[in-house]
Amino acid sequence: MDKMVICLGGNPNAGKTTVFNNLTGAHQKVGNWPGVTVEKKEGEFVYQQKKIRVVDLPGTYSLTAYSIDERIARDFLIRDHPDVTVVIVDATNLERNLYLAIELLELGANVVIDLNMMDMVRQKGWQIDVNKLSQLLGVPVVPTIASKSEGMEQLKQAILTAATKGSLPFKIDYGADVEKVLDEITVLINQHKDGSLNVSARWLAIKLLENDTQVKNWLQNLTRGREIITKATSMSQALQQKLGEDVETYLIERRYGFISGLVKECVQKPMGVEEKLTLSDKIDKIVINRWLGIPLFFFFMWITFKLVFNVGAPFADYIDSAFGWLGETTKHLLGENWLSSLISDGIIAGVGGVLVFLPNIIILFLAIGFLEDCGYMARAAFVMDRFMHALGLHGKSFIPMILGFGCNIPGIMACRTLESRKDRLLTILINPFMSCSARLPIYVLFAGTFFPKHAGTVIFIMYALGVVVAILTGLLFKNLFFKGEVAPLIMELPPYRLPTLKSVLLHMWERSFMFVKKAGTIIATGVVLVWFLSSMPPGVEYASGQSWIGHLGKFFAPFFKPAGFGFWQAAVALIFGILAKEVVVGTLGTLYGVEEEGLNKVLPTYFSKLSAFSFMVMSLLYIPCIASIGVIKQETNSWKWTALAVGWSLFVGWTMAVLFYQIGRIFGA
Ligand code: GDP
Ligand code: MG
Repeated sequence: MDKMVICLGGNPNAGKTTVFNNLTGAHQKVGNWPGVTVEKKEGEFVYQQKKIRVVDLPGTYSLTAYSIDERIARDFLIRDHPDVTVVIVDATNLERNLYLAIELLELGANVVIDLNMMDMVRQKGWQIDVNKLSQLLGVPVVPTIASKSEGMEQLKQAILTAATKGSLPFKIDYGADVEKVLDEITVLINQHKDGSLNVSARWLAIKLLENDTQVKNWLQNLTRGREIITKATSMSQALQQKLGEDVETYLIERRYGFISGLVKECVQKPMGVEEKLTLSDKIDKIVINRWLGIPLFFFFMWITFKLVFNVGAPFADYIDSAFGWLGETTKHLLGENWLSSLISDGIIAGVGGVLVFLPNIIILFLAIGFLEDCGYMARAAFVMDRFMHALGLHGKSFIPMILGFGCNIPGIMACRTLESRKDRLLTILINPFMSCSARLPIYVLFAGTFFPKHAGTVIFIMYALGVVVAILTGLLFKNLFFKGEVAPLIMELPPYRLPTLKSVLLHMWERSFMFVKKAGTIIATGVVLVWFLSSMPPGVEYASGQSWIGHLGKFFAPFFKPAGFGFWQAAVALIFGILAKEVVVGTLGTLYGVEEEGLNKVLPTYFSKLSAFSFMVMSLLYIPCIASIGVIKQETNSWKWTALAVGWSLFVGWTMAVLFYQIGRIFGA
């Protein structure tokens, strides 16, 4: 054994990174795991003349095949056979943290347990019998306080000892019924296993009973592999009858049962601690209540959009007046020529028309930031989980969806670490329907102009419509393209806390600044392009039907006629909106050569209340912006899925806009 390889596993927040840094110091290498864009950290240290390479596994709660992170960890353990696997365990939450350790032991890893956060354990007044824990699990257990580098020498020593000694066999007793089946499958697998599958047969058998897709794929490659799978499937079905519940659920419960017994043996807590409900628990009784949870969530969202509109409006007026003044002054100073037209009709009217909505966007980000930091967003996902499960979708998908309210790009990126390939693809494909902040200006403008008394509610309806379309699309795609299981959900509910002003403001600033930057770059480019096409051919009346852009718009306008806005300016706005959704408003500003206040007066000559509404629906749903399309391509790694996202959204947007318009007309709206 020239060079040892060890890896670090653990639940998120158990202190894995801290231990990793303690062990490896500055000698670190960061890259990606082969084939996937999940961070891989590696480092080295020397202990007693031995060079030890450390690989940091992704933080996970378990080792299923459901999520990329967990599969990476599992594949590494099986293929690379590290000499030692150190599990960093948060000692204040043994019930949950030991689950991963148990799974690693079942897999046959040579485990050393790092019992971290011992300072917190002492603070709580708990007693943990470390020796007993080590004895019952048959592995070394080292208490540490990683944040103070305490216990690291002992940890290194335990690693070295474990590497030379190897591991003891570990087995959880799943009860007579299951054990009998496991034995039978284990024998079968042992008969046909070849060198390519270097894992314990019992583990493979357990995973087969859990219906693990990856293990099934592996076994399929063995001679008579299919036979084994068929046999295991029928046995698992028979077991399910006997147990009266899903086999996978049953196995998970048995593992937790084992842990619960283990913790009772080894941990002593002062009396009365567990019965006390914290304030968080009390709030959760209401907020994640089965009946109140979803109505409360919608109520909070509704309040948010009311605030966004009502509080934002007066500030918007100031900005609007400022740009109006700027435009007039420019015209006045430069006179009537192309440069003055470019600056005042193009840039000031277009970019100004978008920047007017900065106050609304700042308030939206303030609200989202507050809800995130106080711990409510995690609850919202939790609450929606039940709802989404009822629809056959995965609850965790709701987190990227909520992020999509800010911008679809981080929303789509957030799908990366969370989901199985199936759930990931689905969640990516539906994310563009989550109404991002770039679409907010369109609603604020149209709702404010056509529904001034109910603007907040109309905006809320748009967001809600986006969510509904997203969910229905997910349901449809799931049944069309991916039939199969839903991953079980373990979701952390962090305690509620009052967010610090600094953190909320910082979030708001970062996100709002992105908006301003976008206004200065892609949106400015878009409106200049619109201005140019509006001014050509030379000598044409600016932004008239005879300009190039007029011809372009007229070509597409008939397409939108059934939706009630079949005039060329709307077509042009939508086409250029694909650059960035803010450009829809910017384009209208450039075409009509006025800022928001002016648009308020001009728009009613083109739109009715009804067609304004269907235009908002269209803007919400049709084709994602170019940047989103790029990220969808990047994350799905497929032009087919990307084309589907674009084609489907255009179809749905157009259809919904036409439906709203035509049905509204029937009812005489
Ligand atoms: P990871 O998600 O597992 O990588 O966890 P980190 O290493 O990032 O640690 C999460 C948090 O716990 C950080 O704020 C650490 O400073 C803190 N932490 C790590 N070890 C200890 C410990 O032993 N005691 C206490 N009180 N905090 C710790
Ligand atoms: Mg970490």
